[in-house]
Amino acid sequence: MTEEQSTKPDTHDRAWSFLVAGEERQFQGNAGYEDVIEESYSYDSTVGNHQHVAVGDLVVVRNGKEALGAGMVEALQVLPEQEKVRSRCPFCASTGFKGRSTMFPRFWCSRCKNAFDTPNSEILRVTAFRAHYGGTWQPLDGCLDKAQLSELSLSRSDQQSIKKMDRRRTLAAIEARGVRFPSRGELRRAGGRRPRELPGGRRRTAAAVRRGQDGFRRALVREYGLVCAVTGAAPAEVLEAAHLRPFAETEQHRVEEGLMLRSDVHRLFDCGLLAIDAELVVHVAPSLAGHGAYSALAGVPLRIPPDAPIDRAAVADHHAATVATW
Ligand SMILES: [Zn+2]
Repeated sequence: MTEEQSTKPDTHDRAWSFLVAGEERQFQGNAGYEDVIEESYSYDSTVGNHQHVAVGDLVVVRNGKEALGAGMVEALQVLPEQEKVRSRCPFCASTGFKGRSTMFPRFWCSRCKNAFDTPNSEILRVTAFRAHYGGTWQPLDGCLDKAQLSELSLSRSDQQSIKKMDRRRTLAAIEARGVRFPSRGELRRAGGRRPRELPGGRRRTAAAVRRGQDGFRRALVREYGLVCAVTGAAPAEVLEAAHLRPFAETEQHRVEEGLMLRSDVHRLFDCGLLAIDAELVVHVAPSLAGHGAYSALAGVPLRIPPDAPIDRAAVADHHAATVATW
């Protein structure tokens, strides 16, 4: 395995979105190496735009529906002369056939409408690439959806695995949703640097998977971005979906009855130590007066847009019930 790596920042101005999921793009050389989406992305020389991705580029990782996260390319591995198996429909030679989980024959070609058990296979010699994000990865948790991503894309096609994006506008859109990239200087001062050995990586963290499966939180992230309504932009890992009414009472997940809150603020809200009035101003329990970080939140207006879909009656009810105990 030969590797060419560089950490020299480029001065060009590029950004890409990388598609995960979907079998067409999976590079299965190297004994089934599996991408860890927060760490790296593998592709090969059969993928469009493969030759243009470079160190210093901004990357947004997407699935078919939304943006999962973003990072900067900190290192690029190049693995020449890899073998890749490509399968084709035995009837029409199309590569666009699908496996069927319950029916036989096992494969179905949507182009020529034939079913078959054994596709034709050919072995290609390809150059494989792996782009690593170093310590720059930021979870996006779906704060940009498919339509917003294509609006930022410079390519018409939806099918491309690697799509060119407008870097300036993409960065602005991500930051407007509360995401904060460390600058190179900040990353260096924080001790972040490219690992000497590029690791195979751990699997996508269980916490990230859980966050992605919470439909109520997903809807709130789509609405508000990665921003705590009380304290402002915060890492995805500490942002939670708060119910303005006790969930057990309503058993509903209405966006109007939810807010994104940092986990400690969420806890205070649920414990009745922090409330929000109908004018969307924060109130803090007198018992927290000795905790400057929290008492300073008293009187702060909620950080949500003026036209945000929030149920003011729900916050007023919570406020009345809460301050009655102070
Ligand atoms: Zn076919």
